[in-house]
Amino acid sequence: MADYEIPEPEPKEIDEKLSIELRHLADNAVLTGKPYNDEQCENCRYFLEPYKDISYCWHQKLRILVGADWWCQWWDAIPEEG
Ligand code: SF4
Repeated sequence: MADYEIPEPEPKEIDEKLSIELRHLADNAVLTGKPYNDEQCENCRYFLEPYKDISYCWHQKLRILVGADWWCQWWDAIPEEG
């Protein structure tokens, strides 16, 4: 029996499609992987779990996982309680 060689992994069509969609989404949001002054996902109202390094952003135009120190143009302060 011939030796079976495991093929090298490579991106599939779905990966290219998702990559393009996510790039558009990030561009629209002006999403960056860095804070903007003292604004960052970690202290934005849309960052679901502020105690995590990565969490879900529930802004209606994003709905993706983002990093705590990222930032986008839809940043909004966490409302004061009470
Ligand atoms: S709206 Fe923007 S700044 Fe706020 S959590 Fe989502 S990606 Fe981060």
